[in-house]
Amino acid sequence: MDLNEQLAARQARARERMDELAIDVLLLSVGADLPYLTGYEAMPLERLTMLVLPRGGESILVVPELEAPRVEPRPGAFELRTWSETEDPIAIVAGLVGPAARSVAIGDQTWARFVLRIQDAVPAARMHPASVVTSPLRVVKDSTEVEALRAAAHAVDAVGAEMRGRPFGGRTELDIHREFSDRILEHGHERVNFAIVGSGPNGASPHHEASARVVNDGDVVVCDFGGTMDGYCSDITRMFVVGEPSAEVRDVYDLLVDAQEHAVRAATVGTSCEAVDATARRIIAAGGYGDRFIHRTGHGIGLEAHEDPYLVSGNRTPLEPGHAFSIEPGIYFPGRFGMRLEDIVVASDDGPDRLNAAPRDLAIVG
Ligand code: ZN
Ligand code: ZN
Ligand code: ZN
Repeated sequence: MDLNEQLAARQARARERMDELAIDVLLLSVGADLPYLTGYEAMPLERLTMLVLPRGGESILVVPELEAPRVEPRPGAFELRTWSETEDPIAIVAGLVGPAARSVAIGDQTWARFVLRIQDAVPAARMHPASVVTSPLRVVKDSTEVEALRAAAHAVDAVGAEMRGRPFGGRTELDIHREFSDRILEHGHERVNFAIVGSGPNGASPHHEASARVVNDGDVVVCDFGGTMDGYCSDITRMFVVGEPSAEVRDVYDLLVDAQEHAVRAATVGTSCEAVDATARRIIAAGGYGDRFIHRTGHGIGLEAHEDPYLVSGNRTPLEPGHAFSIEPGIYFPGRFGMRLEDIVVASDDGPDRLNAAPRDLAIVG
């Protein structure tokens, strides 16, 4: 199946889902749903780009005239409707939606400036988030998508392995962050999404932004990094320590490795998302650090770095073949240090397919 056929097949499945939900039209602008269904990513600008996908008709991509040269034609996936600087794209979209539409799904990340005007222009239609249509499709990755995720994972694996031979002590977090970013791009990613470098006490803040703090001897350093390669995301966390780790650091890390390993093995088809979370949590709690594991165990990954399915208490969704997600338990000591270990895993009939293979032991660096 070539990409055009693949896009047409995805749109056909979106239409089936719209049938089930009695949604007349799907409207997509910025965000990952649009490239998923058209192969085209909207420019995040004040000029509106919007796919109008009616349940029973042809898809039309409404695009500013000056951006039309960026659009690759996709026969069978959409027709192009360009708008010139003096036209009103909202009127064009409203015209394509039509006065009979009663139920419209619009991209979850569409800007309010467009959503509010579209709502005014089609007052009879009730609006829903597009994810009710697209999430059940996107959450199951096909083999092409799994291979794209695997390639992205291998690229950041190489970065993680290389950094084990690099000095950390005496450098600022920002300097190390820049090195991670450069290497992510060198290994084939088109974009760096984040490169968290949390040294010493900063590591206790799970989403810490790299700062001017100089990494000291004895510091534990959380490095959580990833980007986008051929449209699909990578996301990995590895732990570094400057010089010999203390017995406490070793013990906490051993517990974390054990929790992560068991959660990965638990991620089999049919197991609920919350059961995988509970597996990691049980082990960390038994080690005495239950209240230090302050976030969910993982998130789905694909065209977006965080998407369905979320491995969190309360999510009873059973894992299906093709579900792709992170498993990233963490243990945090405010004011002292933090630790997290993260790999991307795909649920499959042959068991959990762990995409990352970079060494997982504590990296002792200079
Ligand atoms: Zn995160
Ligand atoms: Zn991460
Ligand atoms: Zn993650």
